[in-house]
Amino acid sequence: ASARLRKPDWIRVKAPTSAGFAETKRLMREKSLTTVCEEAACPNIGECWTKKHATVMILGDTCTRACAFCNVKTGMPRAVDAAEPQHVAEVAVQMGLKHIVITSVDRDDLPDGGARQFVRVIEAIRAAAPATTIEILTPDFRNKADAAIDMIVAARPDVYNHNLETVPRLYPTIRPGARYYASLRLLEGVKKRDPSIFTKSGIMLGLGEQRLEVHQVMDDMRSADIDFLTMGQYLQPTPRHARVEDFVTPQAFDSFAAIARAKGFLLVASSPLTRSSYHAGDDFERLRAN
Ligand code: SF4
Ligand code: SF4
Repeated sequence: ASARLRKPDWIRVKAPTSAGFAETKRLMREKSLTTVCEEAACPNIGECWTKKHATVMILGDTCTRACAFCNVKTGMPRAVDAAEPQHVAEVAVQMGLKHIVITSVDRDDLPDGGARQFVRVIEAIRAAAPATTIEILTPDFRNKADAAIDMIVAARPDVYNHNLETVPRLYPTIRPGARYYASLRLLEGVKKRDPSIFTKSGIMLGLGEQRLEVHQVMDDMRSADIDFLTMGQYLQPTPRHARVEDFVTPQAFDSFAAIARAKGFLLVASSPLTRSSYHAGDDFERLRAN
C-alpha cells in the first residue's frame, strides 16, 4: 500500500473551544444523548456546535454493521431507551432548534429495524416543538424497508435523508451489507408514499470513484425523484478505515455542484467539508422562504 496522502490546505478544521460548544456538549450529556458529530469525528463540530446545530444519533452508539468509512463502534447494541424520544424533544426545545437532524445506527437486530423509535422521536418533537422542522437520516432497514417507511412516512418528517455514500462499484469494500439499488428504492418509496416530504441523499468523494460514476449516481438519484444532494470529501477517521484515494479540489466540488443543479436537484451542498447535515437547517429554511 502506498503512503497515506497528506491533507491539503483546504481541509482546515477549527478547534472546538467556544461557549456554544461547551453548552451543547453539556446538554447532550445531561440528556444522555449521542451525537453523530462526536461519534463520526466530524470536522465541523466546532462550527456547528457553536451555532447550536447538532445531529442526534438515536438507538444507541453501537452499530450492527461495520462500514469501512465509519467511526461508529460495531457490536451488539443495548435495548432501546424508552425515554429517548422525550430527551430528544427536550434538547430541541432547550436549544431552540429551528431544524433538527435525527439519525441512528443501523439496528439489524431489532424486528422493525428501529423504525418505530424514529416515529416516536418525530411525534415527541412535534408535540414539544411544533415549529421545529424535522430531518431524519435513516439506515436502509434492509429487508424491513417497506414496513419501516410506511410507518415513518405516516409520521411526516419534513426531510427524509438516506445516504448512498459512494458509487455502486465501491459498495463491496466501502459499504458491505448494503445494496445500492435497495437504498435508491427506499428513497423512491418515500417520495411515492408522500410527495410533500423532501428526499435527500449524499455521497462522499475521494474513495476512488470516477467522475462519470458520480454523474451516473446523480442521474440515478434524479430518476428516484431525490430532491437534495450533499457531496463532501471522505476523511479517514483512523488508520483502520478505508484509505483516502484522493483529495478532490474545491473547484471540482463546485463543478459537481453546477452539474447537479443542472440535473434538477432543488438543493445541492458540495464542498470538501460538506457533511450530510452540514448547514442543513439554513439551506432548508432558505428553500422554504422562496
Ligand atoms: Fe454534526 Fe452534521 Fe455539523 Fe458534522 S456537519 S458537526 S455531523 S451537525
Ligand atoms: Fe456507520 Fe451507518 Fe455503517 Fe453503522 S451502518 S457502520 S452507523 S455508516
